[in-house]
Amino acid sequence: MAPQVISHWVDNEVVTGSSGGTAPVTNPATGEVTGQVALASVEDARAVIDAAAAAFPDWRDTSLAKRTAVLFRFRELLNERKDELAAIITAEHGKVLSDALGEVSRGQEVVEFACGIPHLLKGGYTENASTNIDVHSIRQPLGVVGIISPFNFPAMVPMWFFPLAIACGNTVVLKPSEKDPSAALWLAELWKEAGLPAGVFNVLQGDKTAVDELLTNPTVKSVSFVGSTPIAQYVYSTGTAAGKRVQALGGAKNHAVILPDADLDLAADAMVNAGFGSAGERCMAISAAVAVGPIADDLVAKIAERAATIKTGDGTKDSDMGPLVTQAHRDKVASYIDAGEADGAKVVVDGRQVTPDGGQDGFWLGPTLLDNVTPAMSVYTDEIFGPVLSVVRVDTYDEALDLINTNPYGNGTAIFTNDGGAARRFQNEVQVGMVGINVPIPVPMAYYSFGGWKNSLFGDSHAHGMDGVQFFTRQKAITTRWLDPSHGGLNLGFPTN
Ligand code: NAD
Repeated sequence: MAPQVISHWVDNEVVTGSSGGTAPVTNPATGEVTGQVALASVEDARAVIDAAAAAFPDWRDTSLAKRTAVLFRFRELLNERKDELAAIITAEHGKVLSDALGEVSRGQEVVEFACGIPHLLKGGYTENASTNIDVHSIRQPLGVVGIISPFNFPAMVPMWFFPLAIACGNTVVLKPSEKDPSAALWLAELWKEAGLPAGVFNVLQGDKTAVDELLTNPTVKSVSFVGSTPIAQYVYSTGTAAGKRVQALGGAKNHAVILPDADLDLAADAMVNAGFGSAGERCMAISAAVAVGPIADDLVAKIAERAATIKTGDGTKDSDMGPLVTQAHRDKVASYIDAGEADGAKVVVDGRQVTPDGGQDGFWLGPTLLDNVTPAMSVYTDEIFGPVLSVVRVDTYDEALDLINTNPYGNGTAIFTNDGGAARRFQNEVQVGMVGINVPIPVPMAYYSFGGWKNSLFGDSHAHGMDGVQFFTRQKAITTRWLDPSHGGLNLGFPTN
């Protein structure tokens, strides 16, 4: 059977596009090419953007009651059929089914938050700001908004943005990762079933050509990007130079600090879950465990003992950890382990030796634990985005804090301790956007906002929560005077009261 073509979604229909260009999509657990994703030309991209623009006037004028009715239906359908979406994610990304379901649930939370949009969009009102003058504020949608997402969360990351964008009255062009493009199409079909009018949610498949059109086309009013730091920087500078509102979330290097008084079993469980979950392909994965003081030997032993029990294999089977997304990425991650070993790190658990429960051409790499990693090693400095956990040994809390605060990234971090004072000091002093206290992956709930500091986010707005509502709307302040028997008279001065 010829691999299926994964196309664009425009005006509530699948549209092939005219570019003719495609890229292969693989099942990482078998290595098999399962589809060819369309790569949009500039003309294809413009057609999708134009469809979104044509749908905007009606959608922005659709009442909040009608918009929320669609959102509630979308939420119900998603909740009923999330297993289908999880299976699509596992087939193209490789993560295990339970993890794919978790991703869908986190996305669903943003849909649920967006169902409250009538309350979230309420403005302020001031009566009699000046004599007989009232002032109120409203929030209006921007128009066509672009969303560009990475491979590692093909459903959740788009859902950080599009529920609120749509709820606020915008129309959307989503450009998924070309590595796992099918989840976006499934979500598009679900919107149609939920009753979303044609043109409000569109999917543009493609690569840099599609991204560049979203960044420069004057019809697109904002861009929400998630991906690696160099591309995030490029998206931010190109999009803002073209006059757009841009939020660009980048890469990460997340540290966990384990203080000497911590519960080491809890900390070891957490390091394994946060280091190797989703094969380390999470922007909130812990990649550096910073052991403070005399506990390092015990901590390393406990992590190693747990890592050895992880079953690496096909995500549709009884596995704990799936393959990496592509062969090229698998080889790149393995090369970091080689480099770490050559630089003097001790390979305590070696994922290069893994025996997976999966296809022999799958992109396998098992959990890897490196000890005695130093800040000079590439395995420490670079974002690896694979199942590699480095233990860095330091003597004091201040040294641990300094490592984190001098790191160019600032996405997530965690501290493990039973000392409330130390934890409180850490949350105050650490220069990172999302902080966990005895919680390894502190992803905020949908009603808070998600975002890092430093090179992990370019722009002012984080994703979802009130930042999301503000990002997808523009504020207007309206000053009103209704005629009153006392009105009239000329006054050329600046209005006072
Ligand atoms: P990526 O930067 O390679 O790709 C992200 C998107 O940008 C994709 O849609 C891709 O098609 C597009 N793109 C790639 N190269 C481009 C180019 N030269 N010009 C224009 N567009 C381009 O990222 P990825 O490998 O898909 O995802 C992994 C990265 O995403 C990691 O760095 C990870 O930390 C990061 N990430 C960050 C967060 C966060 O919240 N900060 C969340 C998830 C993933």
